[in-house]
Amino acid sequence: MGESGKFFLTASTCGFCRGVREALAHFEKALEKYHPPVYVLHELVHNKFVTSSMSSAGAVFVSSLDEVPVGSVLLIGAHGVSAAVMQECQKRFTVIDATCPRVLALQKMAGKIPEQSELVMLCKPGHPEAEGVIGHSSTEKIYAVSSLEDVKKLPALTSPVLLAQTTVSGELVSQVKSYLTDKYPAISSVSRICDASDRRQQAVKELAKKCDFIIVVGSKHSSNACELHKLAMASGVRSCMVDSAEDIGLAMFEDVSSVGITAGASTPDELISGVKVRLQEIGYADAGAAE
Ligand code: SF4
Repeated sequence: MGESGKFFLTASTCGFCRGVREALAHFEKALEKYHPPVYVLHELVHNKFVTSSMSSAGAVFVSSLDEVPVGSVLLIGAHGVSAAVMQECQKRFTVIDATCPRVLALQKMAGKIPEQSELVMLCKPGHPEAEGVIGHSSTEKIYAVSSLEDVKKLPALTSPVLLAQTTVSGELVSQVKSYLTDKYPAISSVSRICDASDRRQQAVKELAKKCDFIIVVGSKHSSNACELHKLAMASGVRSCMVDSAEDIGLAMFEDVSSVGITAGASTPDELISGVKVRLQEIGYADAGAAE
C-alpha cells in the first residue's frame, strides 16, 4: 500500500476497443501501401493524442470532402458515414473504409427500416456515428433523442423502430425500450449497444463499489468516455475526466484513499500508464485490476 494505505485500482476492462485497434491498423496499412498524405474524414477516433500522432505520421484531417483532392486516398473512421457520403467518396477517391463492424451492423439495420416507419435514434444528436446511421435509413420520419424525457415528448408514432448509438448507456437503452414497448407493443426492432461499450460500463460500476474517486482517461468529445464519467458519478462517487497525467494535481485527492482508473474505448494504453505513474508519484500504490 502507498502512504497511509492509499491505493488505486484499474477497471477490469478499459481503453482501446477492437473497433479502434482495427481502424488504426487500417491507417498503418494505408500509409505503407499509398504513402502520405492519407486524408481522414473527421477524426478516426475521438482522442486528441491519437489525432495528433496520426497527423505526425502523415494523416490530413478534413471536415468536408471538398478539402480532399480528387484521386487521393481517403480513410473513413470507425464512426462511419451515410450511404450518400460513401457513394460520393467512392466516385472521387481511393477509399479505405475503417468503419467499425458494429457500426456497419447498425447501418444495415437502419437500411432495412420501411419508409412508412419512424426511426427513433437514441444517440448524442449530431455525433458522426448517429448521422451516418440515420443516413442509411430511407424513412424521412427520424427522431434523434438523447434521453427518456425526449422520448416521452415524441408525437404519436405508428410503427417505430428504435436504434441506439453503440456508446449510449445500456441502462438508458433498456429504459427507452421498455417505455416504447409498453406504448407500442408491435415495435419491430430494437438494437443493443456494442459489447465493448457494455463491458466498459459494467466495469466502471464495479470499480465505483471499491473506490472513493474515479478518474476517466479520455477526451471530453469522446461519447463513450463521457458515458463512463456519467456512470461513475451516478454510482455516487466523485469522478473527473482527464486527457492525460498532466491534468492530475494533488488537490484533486484531498480525503481520497482509493482511486479507480478507467478509460474510454479511444484512449491509448500509454495515457493510462502515464496516469498510473502519476498516482504512484503522489503516494498511491498500484493494487492491480479490479475483479
Ligand atoms: Fe466499435 Fe464499439 Fe469500439 Fe465503437 S466502441 S469502435 S462500436 S467496438
